[in-house]
Amino acid sequence: MRLAGKSAIITGAGRGIGRATALMFAREGADVLAPDLDLASSEAVAKEILALGRKAVAMQMDVTRMADIQRMVQTAVREFGKIDILVNNAGITQVRFPLELTEADWDRTLNLNLKAVFFCSQAVAREMVARKSGVILNAASISGRTGKPMLVDYCASKFGVIGITQSLAMALAKHGVRVNAVAPGIVDTDMWVSIDREWSALEGKPTGAVKQARVANIPLGRIETPEDVAKLYTFLASDDASYITGQTYNVCGGLQLN
Ligand code: NAP
Repeated sequence: MRLAGKSAIITGAGRGIGRATALMFAREGADVLAPDLDLASSEAVAKEILALGRKAVAMQMDVTRMADIQRMVQTAVREFGKIDILVNNAGITQVRFPLELTEADWDRTLNLNLKAVFFCSQAVAREMVARKSGVILNAASISGRTGKPMLVDYCASKFGVIGITQSLAMALAKHGVRVNAVAPGIVDTDMWVSIDREWSALEGKPTGAVKQARVANIPLGRIETPEDVAKLYTFLASDDASYITGQTYNVCGGLQLN
């Protein structure tokens, strides 16, 4: 029970890594606000958390909307009295050859993967700084370490997440708030289903070809599970990581070495 007595917000908690993290946090004793773009998936996760004996709150929200971010913070404070942990998990990818990428494509990715990470952090940090305690965790990626030919907007957003992580960590350390990021590799979620479908089609290959080739390159020999990522989030959220801030950790089966 490494998170006993803590309350957490996990954005995009309805499926994938967000859902796995919400459930692992609950198993470790945390109460969880589980916002998602889709209310039904948020409610389904909240139900699973309640069954684990923790407090859980579902809500529909779009992290790119400032009014929704305020509502998210108000809901967490009203329901839990405090926010100990924020996981900025919600994110998207789209596979495009850079010369085909439109301004709307760029804005879609950067608004969600980067701008929302900052403004969710800012809103929650105001509450954490007032209490001189808190942990903010961000979803980076190995695509925030090395560029990828068909993911220029995604890579820009994830390199940016690492910059936000380092800058906020430096600004908030003296206020008792730690800020770190995780950089997953190829995780078995809906995100990679759509990356594979779009990328394989662009290369004229059958569905599944791009994913299979990438997974074959993973040194640890298997695709990553959402729980592999959730375990790292859980450690970084816990007091076991009390001397760690400003860092980004790869969790990728050895795919990325720096
Ligand atoms: P996923 O399976 O596609 O799930 C993304 C979640 O975010 C969904 O629940 C989605 O809600 C929610 N979401 C999307 N837009 C939102 C918005 N505007 N407001 C609120 N919630 C929103 O993705 P995942 O694979 O779990 O990835 C989670 C994070 O890890 C992302 O930041 C991703 O970039 C990062 N990551 C993933 C991988 C990977 O291989 N999968 C690798 C490295 C990093 P809906 O269900 O309503 O769409």
